Amino acid sequence: MPQRFGMKKMFLFSLVFIALSTHAQELGYYLPDSVKYNPAIPKPKDIIYHEVGEWHITHDRLVNYMKSVATAAPDRVKLETMGLSYENRPQVLLIITSPKNHQNLEQIRQQHIQLSDPNKSASLNIENMPAVVWIGHSIHGNEPSGANAALLSAYYLAAAQGPQIEALLENVVILFDPSFNPDGLQRFSTWVNQHKSKNLVTDANSREFNEVWPGGRFNHYWFDLNRDWLPAVHVESQNRLKWFHLWKPNILTDHHEQGSNATFFFQPGVPSRVNPLTPEKNQELTTKMGKYHAAFLDRIGSLYFTKENYDDFYYGKGSTYPDVNGAIGILFEQASSRGHAQQTANGILRFPFTIKNQFTTALSTLEAAKSLRKEFLSFQRDFYKTVQIAAGAASVKAYVFGDEKDKGKTAEFITMLQRHQIDVYELNNAIKADGNEFKRGTSFVVPTAQTQHQLIRAIFEKTLTYKDSLFYDITAWTMPLAFGLSYAELNATGFNNNVLGKKYTETATKMGGVQGGESNYAYLLEWTELYAPAALYELQNSGISTRVATNQFSMMIDGNSKKFSYGTIMIPVQQQNNTGAKMFETINKVAQKYGLAIHSLKTGSVTSGSDIGSSRFAALSKPSVAMITGAGVNPLDAGEVWHLLDQRFNIPISHLEPATFNRVDLNKYNTLILVSGTYADLNKDKLKTWVQGGGNLILMEEAVTWAAQAGISNVVIKKTKGAADSTQMLTYVDKEQIEGAQGMRGAIFRAEIDLSHPLAYGYTQPYASLFKANKVYMEKSKNPFATPFYYKNNPLQSGWVSKQNLDVVKNSAAVIVSGLGSGKIISIADNPNFRGFWLGGSKLMMNAIFFGKIIDTGFAAE
Ligand SMILES: [Zn+2]
Repeated sequence: MPQRFGMKKMFLFSLVFIALSTHAQELGYYLPDSVKYNPAIPKPKDIIYHEVGEWHITHDRLVNYMKSVATAAPDRVKLETMGLSYENRPQVLLIITSPKNHQNLEQIRQQHIQLSDPNKSASLNIENMPAVVWIGHSIHGNEPSGANAALLSAYYLAAAQGPQIEALLENVVILFDPSFNPDGLQRFSTWVNQHKSKNLVTDANSREFNEVWPGGRFNHYWFDLNRDWLPAVHVESQNRLKWFHLWKPNILTDHHEQGSNATFFFQPGVPSRVNPLTPEKNQELTTKMGKYHAAFLDRIGSLYFTKENYDDFYYGKGSTYPDVNGAIGILFEQASSRGHAQQTANGILRFPFTIKNQFTTALSTLEAAKSLRKEFLSFQRDFYKTVQIAAGAASVKAYVFGDEKDKGKTAEFITMLQRHQIDVYELNNAIKADGNEFKRGTSFVVPTAQTQHQLIRAIFEKTLTYKDSLFYDITAWTMPLAFGLSYAELNATGFNNNVLGKKYTETATKMGGVQGGESNYAYLLEWTELYAPAALYELQNSGISTRVATNQFSMMIDGNSKKFSYGTIMIPVQQQNNTGAKMFETINKVAQKYGLAIHSLKTGSVTSGSDIGSSRFAALSKPSVAMITGAGVNPLDAGEVWHLLDQRFNIPISHLEPATFNRVDLNKYNTLILVSGTYADLNKDKLKTWVQGGGNLILMEEAVTWAAQAGISNVVIKKTKGAADSTQMLTYVDKEQIEGAQGMRGAIFRAEIDLSHPLAYGYTQPYASLFKANKVYMEKSKNPFATPFYYKNNPLQSGWVSKQNLDVVKNSAAVIVSGLGSGKIISIADNPNFRGFWLGGSKLMMNAIFFGKIIDTGFAAE
């Protein structure tokens, strides 16, 4: 017997050894014991050609498997395609529930969404209503254990048999999203699979664990999709939000990965960092659900932690957005093996183990949803009832917004609100509020007494008080400030029957064209519109020469005197390569495409200001733009520039790696952009020579500091005071809190602007809201004409910032222009393109691109 026992032990050991060396874990490693599976459902390997965790799943094979499961189990699984990613990969959603529920799916959905309607929800009987749970994976493509676990969850939910699974599917409708970020997952899996060795290399230094720039975390445009749930700039978020609101789930899970030396995190996060608009009951239910995750992870011996590191503050994250929609968002963070197996502080972390934890917590989530079903359903119903009462008592009754000079941006803002099912109304009669005039036809109203009251507050309110001083992400995102739109709060007196027009249901239609027919003299395009830069580029690209007004003027248009501001684009008809008729055709087409009114002129004489033939109209040249990209450059910031130019304005931009920059002839570029980053490998002398020869160099954030230190610009950087007083003794355990509080997580500051400066063309107010999430502070220029954007004594508009940091922002410069030889250097301390929704900064960015060259930087100091 002892001998036999020993043999058995040895046999077990060798099994373990084989499993580790080939790294292929069979399904039995992951799946719960004692469950029978329907043999008609294909196992992952039957479709993807490898075991789960043996290779990293590519998005393409992941979709193949999901399709196979849906085909093999049509009574349980229905596959929907929400849309396509930028790289045209399908975003699939599996609806998984019992055969009986599938037969009444539309009825179940309609009944379910009534929970969010306080006028209908009272009569609903939740006894027999299933809970709705959205399971979502790997929004960061290089956090792959989630998407790989999706293979297991899909198999289990489709194939498991017996009373347990039947009870689960009877009580829960699962919206199963195997891959939140298809393009990122594909990029990462390609990287990590191509570096896999037959004998797994666990050395963290090895190439497998160190992706090349930009890495798989991001979507196609290098954006973090887990910050985009609220702004919804990207097609992936837009597709997903449609389905989110179609179903309004009770729970949404967000499966991520964290650093390799960590264990496993599940929410609740840090209690003092929950957004105040999220009800306490949300966190109670999160804690209750946590008991299920703990029990399931205990069972498989996995270490975990809660209530630390992560928070529920910014509603643009997947685990927080549901919290403002009557649901519970759950963040999971698994320590990342990044590749197939990696040496960590806790020993070797193997990919299959990371997958197993994600699969296990998907099951614990579903178990909690089944067991606490009625609590989740009642919570959702109560959430909207409470919100309705709060809305009735709120002092702000409505927000009015709009910009008659920028219909494009106003339309973008409306579209954003509508994606979140916020009702928008036309303004019935012109009003004045908060010092702004709002006109009928170009202004809109959002009453706060509506179902999405809480989300409206999250979008419009400014925040200046906080319970904590540490944050996982940004502390403010007041959307009308971000969009740079005029807006005002209306109280009960201001919000009268005169204000509310009819509900605005149109999707933004672009109405534009040449006003006044073909001209034999000139055309005028106002620069205030969001899409004016797109139109200007298209005109320039069709060979039409253009000029920009550096002065204001008024002239008669259609019998009325009309004022044209700085930055108006003038297109003369004479001395062009095209005939007048051909030009008219092109200009009209461009105006229609971008929804712009372009004015046709019959005369060059004005009623005031500079005549059309004046040298105050400066000739423009077509920008030929390159941006430095690659290792050392912040991919998010670079992606924002790429997205802005490519997606919004249809302007091509070359991406130059430092090595390419150092090698190639730069004469084909007249504009170079350096976003935040370190540029150690860039040939400084070559850059300097290029600027001196007439180049237009645009620097942002940390690139500003780099260029100042490299002696390329003459910008003087302001220093901050240290966080802690070195003469004081401090308690060690407080270190994180004290030092963390000095971080600039992101707040909104009001910059004063000189509207006559070319970098301010198109702005209509002498101020703009800029977003700062860095520690780059500039002294104002010694040239009094060269700091067109600057901060005064009280710049903070919304967000958390330490006193030390605020002190140094005060009276600093936001934008400085300096000359070098015949070139220009434009230093922008903040990020004008933040996350692609900071449209209030895009004019600054595009001015730097189009008008940098015409700025006179000369100044005769005494
Ligand atoms: Zn993540």
